[in-house]
Amino acid sequence: MKRDEEYKALKQRLSKALIDLVEQHYPGFAEIIDYQELSTPLTNEHFTGHYQGGIYGLAIAPERFEAKNLAWRDPKTPIPGLYLTGVDLMMMGGIVPAMLGGLLTVANLPQGISVPQTFIASRRF
Ligand SMILES: Cc1cc2nc3c(=O)[nH]c(=O)nc-3n(C[C@H](O)[C@H](O)[C@H](O)COP(=O)(O)OP(=O)(O)OC[C@H]3O[C@@H](n4cnc5c(N)ncnc54)[C@H](O)[C@@H]3O)c2cc1C
Repeated sequence: MKRDEEYKALKQRLSKALIDLVEQHYPGFAEIIDYQELSTPLTNEHFTGHYQGGIYGLAIAPERFEAKNLAWRDPKTPIPGLYLTGVDLMMMGGIVPAMLGGLLTVANLPQGISVPQTFIASRRF
């Protein structure tokens, strides 16, 4: 909310384009909006600290699958005792991939349990 007028105008144009798109499919949609706010990657970076505002994690780019980067897609890193987890272990972003990343990490811990065992254990809750 501390940007110049040109930036605010750009956000307004983007908001309008999105609302117009929905309006095409659901006539009357625009009329029922009381308040709207468009967040951008800048907003996300500011509030969540995600690199370049990428709230779904690292970009799903071919470079992630290059041999030299494969170690960083594995929960077990080359650094003893350091494990990775969360969405960046997976090939897509979002809550479910983040959860699957957690399961993979648990399965790789010295005292961890396998993914099927985790599902069986979760039935108790
Ligand atoms: C506004 C918004 C809407 C979203 N909507 C959806 C949606 O509708 N559906 C969907 O599937 N996904 C959605 N996502 C994406 C989803 O929330 C993320 O992909 C998922 O939460 C990633 O989980 P994660 O555990 O990998 O990382 P995060 O949830 O980002 O967890 C990382 C944690 O590490 C902590 N941390 C960071 N650095 C350090 C440090 N140096 N020391 C200690 N702790 C640290 C952070 O505080 C945070 O708690 C949304 C995200 C946002 C921001």
